[in-house]
Amino acid sequence: MKKPKSQDNYVENLGMYYPRNQIEFEKEFATAKQCQNFLFRLRKMVGDFVCRECGHAEFWECQRGNAKYKCKECRTETSLLVGTIFEDSRVSLSIWFRAIWLFVNDKGGVSATSLERQLGIGSHKTSWTLLHKIRRACVNPDRKKLKGEVEVDEFSLGTPTKLGRGNHSTQKIVCMVAAEKNGRVRMEVTHNKAARTAMEFIERNVEKGSHIFTDNNPTSYIFVRSHGYQLTQSSTKTHPLPSADMAISQFRRFLNLTLQGAPDKAHMNEYFDEFAFRYNRRSFDRGLIFLRVLEYAVKLPPTLYREIVKDCSTRRKKKATLPPPQTTPQDTANDDEYPF
Ligand SMILES: [Zn+2]
Repeated sequence: MKKPKSQDNYVENLGMYYPRNQIEFEKEFATAKQCQNFLFRLRKMVGDFVCRECGHAEFWECQRGNAKYKCKECRTETSLLVGTIFEDSRVSLSIWFRAIWLFVNDKGGVSATSLERQLGIGSHKTSWTLLHKIRRACVNPDRKKLKGEVEVDEFSLGTPTKLGRGNHSTQKIVCMVAAEKNGRVRMEVTHNKAARTAMEFIERNVEKGSHIFTDNNPTSYIFVRSHGYQLTQSSTKTHPLPSADMAISQFRRFLNLTLQGAPDKAHMNEYFDEFAFRYNRRSFDRGLIFLRVLEYAVKLPPTLYREIVKDCSTRRKKKATLPPPQTTPQDTANDDEYPF
């Protein structure tokens, strides 16, 4: 896209434009080749597309049309998709880009069945895998912890469990939320209400020195002050955590809309990440969110289907070989989960 840099869809720290609407998306990403060229430019800007043999960053494109590039230094061929969530996918880049576009444009979240139908994907397993990989790309590998005044609370969600012979019951899972006052949010499954568990959740998600606000629970937050945080607990039984309450109620709504209220417990943290990604960017242009998902998709390590099914624990790992991002802190702060 050759446009003046003054346009509002120009992202300074990536040096790229994003599509502002459906018409622009259809024009810019009509073919797999256009998607490949965009991905190549994005990987060059992110700085993680280098020759696996010699580390050189200049390539010729191979003419066979399979997203392979030849190193200008040692002539080794490298796939553009290796090292990204697109690696080893049987789905074409144009389907991937459309899936991500649909994902970010449906504010309530899109289901695997819906993706399968809208994109003509021939298998539910494929669309389910695609969607879960996109969900993983909702987490900025370089995301910052919450800070300032942060409300922290526990809550529980009911998920259906099979008891055999068609009988079902509801299992409660314990979760925690941290919400900046009128700002960003994080949620996780924590499994129990122990004070040490609460402390670990806070340390993973909130910067030291922040001011934690909680309800009047006498035991859950006994370690907070000794771990470098300020703490204010409500002295009454009224619930004084409006930002946390708002996030929890919005998340319940999101579950009902996207998953018809029947989430899979094993993937609850992915639903939390998708929700937080949407919630923290709810005033952003959809096209900017589309570009951010693509950016994280190339920064994150590839994930196999069996890892999605069996293991949610490795997904937060950063790529070991990822070079430092080519951004300044100010660039990142411009739109990384930022306030409304
Ligand atoms: Zn090379």
